[in-house]
Amino acid sequence: MNLELSAEQAAARRLAKDFVDREITPHAAAWDRAERVDPGIVGKLGALGFLGLTVPEEYGGSGGDHLSYALVTEELGRGDSAVRGIVSVSLGLVAKTIASWGDEEQKRAWLPRLTSGEAVGCFGLTEPGTGSDAGNLTTRAVRDGSGSGAGYVIDGAKMFITNGTWADVVLLFARTGGAPGHKGISAFLIPTDTPGLTRREIHGKLGLRGQATAELALEGVRVPASAMLGPEGKGFSVAMSALAKGRMSVAAGCVGIAQAALDAAVGYAGEREQFGAPIARHQLVQELLSDIAVDVDAARLLTWRVADLVDRGEPFATEASKAKLFASEAAVRAANNALQVFGGYGYIDEYPVGKLLRDARVMTLYEGTSQIQKLVIGRALTGVSAF
Ligand SMILES: Cc1cc2nc3c(=O)[nH]c(=O)nc-3n(C[C@H](O)[C@H](O)[C@H](O)COP(=O)(O)OP(=O)(O)OC[C@H]3O[C@@H](n4cnc5c(N)ncnc54)[C@H](O)[C@@H]3O)c2cc1C
Repeated sequence: MNLELSAEQAAARRLAKDFVDREITPHAAAWDRAERVDPGIVGKLGALGFLGLTVPEEYGGSGGDHLSYALVTEELGRGDSAVRGIVSVSLGLVAKTIASWGDEEQKRAWLPRLTSGEAVGCFGLTEPGTGSDAGNLTTRAVRDGSGSGAGYVIDGAKMFITNGTWADVVLLFARTGGAPGHKGISAFLIPTDTPGLTRREIHGKLGLRGQATAELALEGVRVPASAMLGPEGKGFSVAMSALAKGRMSVAAGCVGIAQAALDAAVGYAGEREQFGAPIARHQLVQELLSDIAVDVDAARLLTWRVADLVDRGEPFATEASKAKLFASEAAVRAANNALQVFGGYGYIDEYPVGKLLRDARVMTLYEGTSQIQKLVIGRALTGVSAF
């Protein structure tokens, strides 16, 4: 097994690192305080091809493999998880899903705009009453009209939607049939300026404050039949396939958080003196640093394994759950350990580690909580579903 990066992968990582050090890290604290990253960052991400990674070039994508995608995502996560999340959702959950499930017209309509950053996508699965139990969602799409005027009228609500107030298109999941549970769900691509769709930004989040998280309300939203992504009744499969790859992206972002925690903690431990010596000389501080370092390496290797499986066309969903579970818990641990190294200074936002901990905390919740990842892994081990 060769863990050496190819020339292309190393170049993608270098490009992302330079971009993050120049365009993201210097602004991350201010964006966090302002509860808004600079919207201009989307165009810059698009110009570098970071919003089109793994999407075929014929649709405006920048091609590349999933390891390059993971490397870029890690760097973005190192800089600011609020920015990383924009990419993970608009590219990872929306554009990549259109590339996999869309017909030619849908690909031509949305992919060039999403990969260039001209448009932003959001992913509307969670509802106020259904989070982990997404298969029981209640947003309803009812058939309306006939012939060329045939379409659907959609009513319902979506909760915690990343990019919600910024997005130009929502990949929305709604119940189209009478079948219970996940069998009656279909996926739709809906422009967010469609009449009847309203959005409200959610404020007061613990972390990811620069990111536009929103509630969506749908009242009599009329869409043409051509808005359906994938076959009718297959929406849950569309959602789960998106989330399986999405979990790799979250895991990579978590590696970035843990790496940022390590860099900050090592730097501070070398400068801060107590008891007449840099705190890096004290063995219990070295223990904190080494715990973070092991978490970084283990999370990164689990993430790279998923990327390798995807690129080789092998099954990867269980491994993606393992990577997401471990990396998200590791990011929380790493940021918390880094805060400990900073002592009281870690607790004020003049230093970066408090934000890392706040941003890391949501990673064990979204795209499937840690408990849900364990159920996915348990099902793969036993063949018995706990859902
Ligand atoms: C900042 C943020 C951004 C988000 N972005 C998006 C987005 O872009 N699109 C989107 O669709 N959603 C998004 N979400 C929603 C996210 O995916 C859900 O919050 C998550 O799936 C959990 O759902 P819930 O919050 O309803 O918790 P619940 O499902 O109510 O879970 C509550 C607790 O019960 C546990 N639990 C539930 N069922 C079981 C079980 N069977 N066994 C054991 N434990 C269980 C959970 O692990 C959790 O600890 C986002 C959330 C946040 C906070």
